[in-house]
Amino acid sequence: MHEPGIPHLTAADPELATLVEGEAKRQFEKVRLIASENYVSTAVLEATGTVLTNKYSEGYAGKRYYEGQQFIDQIETLAVDRAKALFGVDHANVQTYSGSPANLAVYLALANPGDTVMGMGLPAGGHLTHGWNVSATGKWFRAVQYGVRKDTGRIDLDEVREVARAERPKLIFCGGTAIPRTIDFPAFAEIAREVGAVLVADIAHIAGLVAGGAHPSPVGHAQVITTTTHKTLRGPRGAMLLSDAEHAKALDKAVFPGLQGGPHNHTTAGIAVALREAAQPSFAEYAAAVVANAQALAGALQERGFDLVSGGTDNHLILIDLTSKGIGGKPAAQAMDRAGIELNYNTVPFDPRKPFDPSGVRLGTPAVTTRGLGVDQMPQLADWIDRAVQAASAGDESAIEKVAAEVRDLLAAYPMPGWA
Ligand SMILES: *Cc1c(COP(=O)(O)O)cnc(C)c1O
Repeated sequence: MHEPGIPHLTAADPELATLVEGEAKRQFEKVRLIASENYVSTAVLEATGTVLTNKYSEGYAGKRYYEGQQFIDQIETLAVDRAKALFGVDHANVQTYSGSPANLAVYLALANPGDTVMGMGLPAGGHLTHGWNVSATGKWFRAVQYGVRKDTGRIDLDEVREVARAERPKLIFCGGTAIPRTIDFPAFAEIAREVGAVLVADIAHIAGLVAGGAHPSPVGHAQVITTTTHKTLRGPRGAMLLSDAEHAKALDKAVFPGLQGGPHNHTTAGIAVALREAAQPSFAEYAAAVVANAQALAGALQERGFDLVSGGTDNHLILIDLTSKGIGGKPAAQAMDRAGIELNYNTVPFDPRKPFDPSGVRLGTPAVTTRGLGVDQMPQLADWIDRAVQAASAGDESAIEKVAAEVRDLLAAYPMPGWA
């Protein structure tokens, strides 16, 4: 059953309550390996389910456009202060609705339509909002892109420098959605300095690892940092902008009134709770365990003949190129979902196949680590993945069902926050 319980919802809207309970059970029974997902604590769930959702508070603490901010001001200030302390930055804005609007706020604050901006290409592991052509950021700005080296699968810093020197972008984005390796913030900073660009580190995926000391911090290298709060940071769906003092005002103005109206105060409260949790010593242990699990899983997959982009991982994320297994990413991901193993199909760098039917799958260990799985369980996960992929190639549905039953059996012993 969902925890906290949902008796009022069940009485008022049984149809919806049944769906919520179904999703909670699904999250309990599956090995959740989507690299951008996690399980928030029940404390975060409670904070996001409060009457704070009733309140309008356009503006910032002490400068609001609505009355009645006696508590909201304190809640937002708590979140801001905790973000500043956790990441060691001068300024934090916790109002952005999610990662994509947070990035849009950076463009609005620091560039004009038509300006040249630079980011990692989506097929190489960048995010849509780093200037990819279907995104507003690629349509409204003159976006130039960098990628990874074909031989190493790692970011090509020579290419980054060459493109930056030739194009003189106003903004350089580093970070992405499918980067299994450590991001070299000092190297990006040097390039940005040389060409007079503002370096923006988008740490949406790795924010929890940065907070927990399991990935180097961009602070002191990137003037502006954007992050979601719901991936490795293990908070509610939301985002933050972190920056030096110089860019604080422009970023705040871009978020409100530039892009948004009232902040989602229930989310702000959930972010505040998650930031408090992330400041505890146990969260550093969590971050280290996420990386240890990813490396153990990567090794166990390689032992079973899986081809990993860049040959492994430094962080929470693994990108498998399934070409050598003779199956596309999409049918493999769908088969694994039926086997109780949840991940997503993903483009691999230089993918010869189409984005909707690419060669790879992406997986990560933030959620299973929250669940309490450790390095000893990673070979079992790799074995299930291997068996599910083989079963998918052979069209053997009963082998897939057998894996799903084994997954349910193992996970029954690992408690899930949000489920009792
Ligand atoms: C997830 C992600 C985002 C976008 O976050 P949403 O909350 O889904 O809008 C932006 N940048 C990076 C690098 C991400 O991984």
